[in-house]
Amino acid sequence: MNNAEIVELAHANLLNNYGCMPLAFVRGHGAYLYDADGNRYLDFFCGLAVTSLGHGHPRVVGAIKQQADKLTHASNVFHTEPMARLAARLSAAFGDGRVFFANSGAEANEAALKLARRWGHAHGGRFEIISTLGSFHGRTLGTLSATGQEKYHEGFEPLVPGFKLVPYNDVGAIERAINSKTVGIIVEPIQGEGGVVVPHPDYLTRLREICDRARLLLIVDEVQTGMGRTGRLFGYQHSGIKPDIITLAKALGGGIPIGAMVARREIATVMTPGTHGSTFGGNPVACAAALGVFDALEHDGVIANAAEVGSYLLARLREIAKECPDVREVRGQGMIIGVALKHAAKPVVDACFRERLIVNGTADTILRLLPPLTLTKEEADAGLAVIERALRAEAGAAGA
Ligand SMILES: *Cc1c(COP(=O)(O)O)cnc(C)c1O
Repeated sequence: MNNAEIVELAHANLLNNYGCMPLAFVRGHGAYLYDADGNRYLDFFCGLAVTSLGHGHPRVVGAIKQQADKLTHASNVFHTEPMARLAARLSAAFGDGRVFFANSGAEANEAALKLARRWGHAHGGRFEIISTLGSFHGRTLGTLSATGQEKYHEGFEPLVPGFKLVPYNDVGAIERAINSKTVGIIVEPIQGEGGVVVPHPDYLTRLREICDRARLLLIVDEVQTGMGRTGRLFGYQHSGIKPDIITLAKALGGGIPIGAMVARREIATVMTPGTHGSTFGGNPVACAAALGVFDALEHDGVIANAAEVGSYLLARLREIAKECPDVREVRGQGMIIGVALKHAAKPVVDACFRERLIVNGTADTILRLLPPLTLTKEEADAGLAVIERALRAEAGAAGA
């Protein structure tokens, strides 16, 4: 089938809940994607920060194939080696944690919220969780209620009670929101969906202090920032703190759906048999893929490359921005980068797309770049040239 045929068939039968681009991808290799008409695209999007090792990474593909040949599902009534090994890997990376496996970011966060509530009920009858405006934590009713963006709430009320939203990057607002019912704070190290909002460098450190003082759980949502995206394995590691709970998904499985919650061992004890679960959670193929991702991150210098090429992208974009009056700010860390514009990002996204560069717009005016962590300088330059042309053309169009 070609692009038009696939798009038509999809539109005829799918729920119309996504604002989809009118093309279909059939294969990918490294930083490149190929559509159903045979066109090649440079991918600065990674399917929303998922295929962080690029497409078709041999460690991930090899692990999936090997495991698929052996066993694809066993359920949580039993154990499998990939799940056991991945839990050990995640626990060690976090530092003596207990792991729960899910299939998405929303489910990983849902597990974190449920753990926090259960721990709170056992520690003073507390249940309220503080979240931040502009945040994104998922689309289930629980995680949606923790998500600080009204546009996602519309029409789905009533939301789950027990959440309090305060401005991001505002320590005082968090302090004022705490009461005798508060059990925890959920926060992204960098707000991704909210527009690549990078907080003050000591924000997480201050939140850690507050949580220690008030006996609250600090839940860090690493769904978008985790697995090397910011130039460290986890985004919170830039601040030197340790959260009580972290959640992962997106890049964890290198393109295979998997989510995980990792909690400090002492607090995880409130989750006893029967308290929570997921049929597919810890699926052996998904866990094998994630083990392949870990291997690549640990042995192939991928995170160092993300930090280095990410800094290069940031620096070059800031140079380009000097010549583009429509750019308000270039911000980010590692391979999560936002170009804040004075106008809608959509025309710039479309202009890049016409030159076969995949980028993404978020929070209306933010051009978001989420390239593979394996991006080379040459690929970075190829993408930058397109972005520069798109920004200049758009500035010309806006001025005309
Ligand atoms: C994408 C995202 C989620 C939700 O993940 P899904 O897999 O879509 O459920 C949660 N938190 C953050 C920070 C995200 O970026």
